[in-house]
Amino acid sequence: MTLLGAAEIRTLAEKLDLKPSKSLGQNFVIDANVCRKIVRTAGITSSDIALEIGPGLGSLTLALMEEAASVVAVEIDSRLANQLPITAAAHSEGANNLTVINQDALQLKSLPVAPTVLVANLPYNVSVPVFLHLLEILPTLRSGVVMVQAEVADRLTAKPNTKEYGIPSVKAAWWAEVTGAGSVSRSIFWPAPNVDSKLVAFKRRETPGSEELRKEVFAIIDLAFAQRRKMLRAALSSRYGGSGAAEAHLSAAGIDPTLRGESLDIHSFCKIAQQGLES
Ligand code: SAM
Repeated sequence: MTLLGAAEIRTLAEKLDLKPSKSLGQNFVIDANVCRKIVRTAGITSSDIALEIGPGLGSLTLALMEEAASVVAVEIDSRLANQLPITAAAHSEGANNLTVINQDALQLKSLPVAPTVLVANLPYNVSVPVFLHLLEILPTLRSGVVMVQAEVADRLTAKPNTKEYGIPSVKAAWWAEVTGAGSVSRSIFWPAPNVDSKLVAFKRRETPGSEELRKEVFAIIDLAFAQRRKMLRAALSSRYGGSGAAEAHLSAAGIDPTLRGESLDIHSFCKIAQQGLES
């Protein structure tokens, strides 16, 4: 299959009279080798059902179609969603294996197929919420590779006690093991963004507890990082009815109340939440 290069991307954009939208994070990959590398990094096999969010003009989609049994692509922009099957048919004999859904990924509740792997160059301004939302609603997704802004990749993969560690790092760790998978130059995009990107790989793991526990854990994480410099006993005081009560709660959970959220891993947050559900 021939993939899309810089010339085809420009021709397609002209045909659609498309001015790439900043607010939709429309930076299209113009380098076919990078697309093949992303698909290789994701380790896709011919039994995989691949999910792509924001297929855009189809650079990565065509590379996915080369390897996966089928591809489901969710695109918010109807001009792009309508064009994609036409582009796929022009480049591939397996275009029937592509399903395009014209929807906001953040509003997605379910899919007509059960995807096994996620591969996406995520729209920058919603990359973390989309990533966490998909892990929540699509339990069949077992692994994947996403391209995000370098700074966001550093946050998603950060470990406790680093300045990058925060809400995205801990929430992602609830669902999956998340690791860095390399850098991507801004020069492979049209238009070129102002920042470099990185690849992030994930492998789903067994969650540390029930959905009830997750909701409690996520609420505590939000509070703990809302004012990062506060000790946990102060940051969680509103949840437990004052800082004295929060201190007692944290001590009962085996967590030092003078620590800050930034030094706790997902399992320590679970201990705090578990204590709340038990008491
Ligand atoms: N995958 C293409 C590529 O690599 O060339 C395009 C990636 S571009 C960074 C992001 C794409 O996500 C755009 O096509 C944009 O229209 C789409 N998009 C933006 N917000 C979205 C959302 N909430 N749900 C689904 N797609 C979205």
